[in-house]
Amino acid sequence: MPPNVVVSEEPVMCTNCAEIIQNSFEFKSTCLYTHNYIVPFVNEKENSKLDLREIYLCKKGTRRY
Ligand SMILES: [Zn+2]
Repeated sequence: MPPNVVVSEEPVMCTNCAEIIQNSFEFKSTCLYTHNYIVPFVNEKENSKLDLREIYLCKKGTRRY
């Protein structure tokens, strides 16, 4: 951790801020999960457009990509 990030030896946070950070973490985690799921479907050489409906159906197991 960079030294300028550490401003307190014993950091304290109120409940509201802790909930906001928790929600932010969950949002970011959801985005990363989706990102990591979609990346294998991307073919940069073909420069093709992704159809998220196809990926969704593939994820549900009703269609093979
Ligand atoms: Zn607060």
